[in-house]
Amino acid sequence: MKKEDCIFCKIANGEIPSKTLYEDEKFRVILDLGPAAKGHALILPKDHFDNLYELSDETGAGVMKLARKMATVMTEKLACDGFNLVQNNGEVAGQTVFHFHMHLIPRYEGDGQRIKIGWEPGKPDQEELEEIRKMITG
Ligand code: AMP
Ligand code: ZN
Repeated sequence: MKKEDCIFCKIANGEIPSKTLYEDEKFRVILDLGPAAKGHALILPKDHFDNLYELSDETGAGVMKLARKMATVMTEKLACDGFNLVQNNGEVAGQTVFHFHMHLIPRYEGDGQRIKIGWEPGKPDQEELEEIRKMITG
């Protein structure tokens, strides 16, 4: 299913041109227009899902399979030193385009790029951890 007025639906389905690295029946992989590093790309499903919560199991499995494949090829071709997979859900988590996408970010020694999802580690005690464990599993 596509969504009216969704820019990534239009790009994924070829209505808006993009620098495409890969395409099949279900996905298009494009170069990001505001790259965090050389080769930063996005996996776009051709069907519309707002985010991870909406994603079908089948598409989710396909995304991870394709991410692995793309990371392998891109690492070889770009000679990068590492790789980040980033996937944001909801405005508070940094999502700006509300069509599910997976970021493929090649990393280079000394690229100076700060990855936004760095954090200050908390110091929960065992009691707090247990409370949270119960919230999630209960
Ligand atoms: P997010 O913040 O996770 O929603 O990521 C959105 C990403 O889409 C950003 O990295 C943008 O640079 C990128 N982006 C937005 N519009 C376009 C476009 N038309 N073509 C390629 N990348 C885009
Ligand atoms: Zn869409």
